[in-house]
Amino acid sequence: MSVQRTELLYEGKAKKVYATADPELHVIEYKDDATAFNAQKRGSIAGKGEVNAAVATRIFEFLAEAGVPTHLEALLSPREQLVKAVRIVPLEVVVRNRAAGSFAKRYGVPEGGELDPVVVEWCLKDDALGDPMLNDAAAVALGIVTPEELETLFELTAEVNDLLKPFFAARGLDLIDFKLEFGVDPDGAIVLADEISPDTCRLWDSATGDKLDKDRFRRDLGGVEEAYQEVRARVLTRTEQDAEIVREHVAEREAWELGEAHVGHSHGGANDQDHQHPHAGAGRHTSAGARGDAGARTFNAVVDVMLRRSILDPQGRAVEATVRRLGHGNVRGVRVGKRITFAIDGELAEVEAQVAALATDLLSNPVMEDVQVELEPAAG
Ligand code: UDP
Repeated sequence: MSVQRTELLYEGKAKKVYATADPELHVIEYKDDATAFNAQKRGSIAGKGEVNAAVATRIFEFLAEAGVPTHLEALLSPREQLVKAVRIVPLEVVVRNRAAGSFAKRYGVPEGGELDPVVVEWCLKDDALGDPMLNDAAAVALGIVTPEELETLFELTAEVNDLLKPFFAARGLDLIDFKLEFGVDPDGAIVLADEISPDTCRLWDSATGDKLDKDRFRRDLGGVEEAYQEVRARVLTRTEQDAEIVREHVAEREAWELGEAHVGHSHGGANDQDHQHPHAGAGRHTSAGARGDAGARTFNAVVDVMLRRSILDPQGRAVEATVRRLGHGNVRGVRVGKRITFAIDGELAEVEAQVAALATDLLSNPVMEDVQVELEPAAG
């Protein structure tokens, strides 16, 4: 494919971004330059640009096959990708399956320990401020993302981890941790952007524990170029498991979406017409049984609270693992939530509004949880 790149829009530590004649498309050029520790350590890794362009392309294609929206259009040349022009969300989302790097240092734990649940952290992408960590409330309060965008972003993050762990495992690599970035496309949808490569992941050889990523550069371990080439060779090799990983993931997502549709929730990007602001009571549902009754009376309220799909649900996963181990291999997508029940007196319209407010403001955390309300007139 031949695309003429035009003006240089941005030059970062590892990549350059160019405009093209089409305002909806950009070209990314991957550089051999390497930096670490917020650019305090600088160097160059021969062939890194080509390795990262090839690795990121294969991984983004794999994720796209499984339904993860990405900015990638095509690999144009060994170190250039054609991508959708997106507005980058200034967040770095780090997923940690095992303790390493700054996490191990911060909490004084050895590198390599399994993290259960998986830890997701995110930072503001701002070199001048040293990429400070954020939490969900701060990200929304600072106007960086809407709650809906945040939800989509973390759903996608969980999906990427679920897909990449087995993808790398099939190649004899343990995915220790990695960093993701997202963009907003012209239609307002959140898509995976930037790169996934040995620059942005920790990858340890499953058999030997050897580090095959940028830590070889950061920590002066030697064999940097060889490690990058090794990762390229393994990632570009097709494995029998790849199609199975995609199939299982798609089936799991469909099972989840079915469950969501059943309880009247919607799943989708920031663009989703059905998507409601969590504070407006996302997924709120009042049972038909309460309608048509006038005057003050007693109602039984049932409030169901479930972790949003974007939040990794360790309890649900543990239950699912046990259920499947016990021979119920057809069970998928287990999520564990909580139910709060109470009686409440008043007129239906007032009670509905009151319970909805209680459900979203007090009984659940709208950033992390979906809530569903049912009201039934009490017997007698
Ligand atoms: N990471 C990255 N860019 C950054 C910071 C981290 O790609 O600016 C990746 C890093 O390669 C590792 C993961 O995110 O795979 C977690 O990095 P960590 O927070 O442990 O920081 P580090 O030890 O790299 O300073």
